[in-house]
Amino acid sequence: MHDVKSNPISRRDFLKVSAGVAGSTVAAELIGFGLDTRLVHASAASVPIKKGKEVPTICPYCAVGCGQIATVDTATGKIIDIQGNPDSPVNEGTLCPKGAATYQLVNNALRWTKVKHRAPGSDKWEDMSLDDAMTRIAQLTKDTRDKNFNETVDMPAAGGGAVKKKVMNTYALASLGGATMDNEWNYAHQKLMHALGVVYLENQARI
Ligand code: SF4
Repeated sequence: MHDVKSNPISRRDFLKVSAGVAGSTVAAELIGFGLDTRLVHASAASVPIKKGKEVPTICPYCAVGCGQIATVDTATGKIIDIQGNPDSPVNEGTLCPKGAATYQLVNNALRWTKVKHRAPGSDKWEDMSLDDAMTRIAQLTKDTRDKNFNETVDMPAAGGGAVKKKVMNTYALASLGGATMDNEWNYAHQKLMHALGVVYLENQARI
């Protein structure tokens, strides 16, 4: 095993290992540095590859935008696997642990699939239909905007006093997007928010 303290890895040693990444020499060199990757390679070779229609897509989680391939079972139309896309110049087939778990976004028995609503003053959550939830959100959004819309604000005038400046906005609504909103959703969402005059607009994905 490589003794790092008494024999530190030189730049030459490091390049030697880097250059041999494709072959078994690499495993031997890494073992020399105290890293035995043979088990990982053996395990990866035994992982069954799921077959189906491969659809290139983008990881929904963060602004790095790693490429993914979603494998779809053509018989059922269901996603059966999501892996890194080797053709993506961003991640070249790799995914971080979060991106590697994207599969669970669509296939997870623990996920709630119904809208939950807790009425004002209630201490319990109840199922609500998606249609009812959308209608309620739209109505509350409109009511709040109508009551709190600013067509103009008073600004200090150059010669003293105040002047009205047109702003057409509301500070009573805010939008905080989640990382699972994809690019297309984010595009449409920010268009809607700007049309409503929402100023407080933020998204984890930094779109
Ligand atoms: S969450 Fe991870 S895999 Fe997904 S885009 Fe960001 S870095 Fe890439």
